[in-house]
Amino acid sequence: MAKTPNIIKSIIACKCPKCREGNLFINKQAFKYQNFLDVHDNCLKCNQDFQIEAGFYLGAMFVTYGLTIALTVAIFVAFIVLNIYSLVPFLITTGITLTLTTPIILRISRSIWISMTVKYTPNSIENYAKKNKS
Ligand SMILES: [Zn+2]
Repeated sequence: MAKTPNIIKSIIACKCPKCREGNLFINKQAFKYQNFLDVHDNCLKCNQDFQIEAGFYLGAMFVTYGLTIALTVAIFVAFIVLNIYSLVPFLITTGITLTLTTPIILRISRSIWISMTVKYTPNSIENYAKKNKS
């Protein structure tokens, strides 16, 4: 039996939550800004529906909010550890970091959101291939 793919790795790599092999996004690179958030209609490997309902990915904004706050707190803690107690450098660093990481955070948020909804199913690719043959 094949080894179960790691959920954290598949979320970060933006893979299908059902088979953890097919790509969630049409565009593989986060920093190609044209259509960087476009999701396939179905998984190319296991046929999992990625457009579960209209506005499904609006819920991902809550995940985006959480990740953004976590990153801001991490920067804040780093400033405390480095003994920097000044607001302006903190705001500039946070602003630049959040601006640069926005495409990655948005994509990972969508990946987390669909992973919270769709369960991993071993052999989903084989099952889809069998259905297509018969
Ligand atoms: Zn899949």
